[in-house]
Amino acid sequence: MLNIDLHCHSNVSDGVLTPTQLVERAHRRGVMVLALTDHDDVAGLDEASRVAAEKNITFINGVEISVTWRGRTIHILGLNVDPDYKPLFEGLTSIRDGRTQRARTIADELEKVGVEGSFEGAFAYVGERGLIGRTHFARFLVEKGYAKDMKAVFKKYLVKGKPGYAHHEWIQLSGAIDWITGSGGRAVIAHPARYNLGKNVLNDLFDEFCALGGTGIEVISASHTREQVEIFADYARIRGFLVSCGSDFHGPDESFYDLGQLPDLPPGCVPVWHDWKIPAACLT
Ligand code: AMP
Ligand code: MN
Ligand code: MN
Ligand code: MN
Repeated sequence: MLNIDLHCHSNVSDGVLTPTQLVERAHRRGVMVLALTDHDDVAGLDEASRVAAEKNITFINGVEISVTWRGRTIHILGLNVDPDYKPLFEGLTSIRDGRTQRARTIADELEKVGVEGSFEGAFAYVGERGLIGRTHFARFLVEKGYAKDMKAVFKKYLVKGKPGYAHHEWIQLSGAIDWITGSGGRAVIAHPARYNLGKNVLNDLFDEFCALGGTGIEVISASHTREQVEIFADYARIRGFLVSCGSDFHGPDESFYDLGQLPDLPPGCVPVWHDWKIPAACLT
């Protein structure tokens, strides 16, 4: 079997570990093929790939791009992207600028319900790159006792209809797919069950995604129940999607799946890595 994990985060975005610590943990846990997929940033890839080479891990350059589709936020993974491809690089920079503006709105919204100092408080959790997301606000809210853990925060705050919510327009689906495929990468819909889309809307998303050049969906994910894994494996088989798997690891105390402990792909699915050059030694 191949121990492969194609979705995780470092502190370049909203993970806890540095790229080096992340790869070292993956190595300790037996991961042989690893993609780092930080939100809207490729700045951790060089460091991670250097450490991965030392550990004989096959490293895949990845990114998880925030997209707005029909008013909803969808995450698109880019696998095997070229981080130096200018449209991708510049596009991600503009998304990150939007994140800082959104953070001000989130802080203003939290202040309305009496939560003071959350902008600075959230930034205390942000890494050197300055990328801020809801996770950083969530850590601040836990620190201040507004919720007992990360899961609880996202029930009470930061989501639609709750304090600290900020509507945000990310880039369009077509833009993200163009940047990924234009750089030589493969576009994959991250954790498709997370969006709670009805059947018709989901089929529309799949149609549009395919028409724009998207080729894969993430079937194994910490966000998916066993039933959802089966449902999306069926979609993949019927529609001919390539299938991906990832822990969506953010940190030792924050993640449902740790690195390197993912279940196997359901039978009859074509892995997104089926045509990648993976050393035979990785298959144990
Ligand atoms: P953002 O991209 O800034 O809107 O933040 C999205 C991130 O928030 C996700 O990538 C997760 O890391 C985190 N997140 C969202 N919902 C939850 C949840 N229910 N429990 C824990 N983390 C969550
Ligand atoms: Mn995240
Ligand atoms: Mn995601
Ligand atoms: Mn993720």
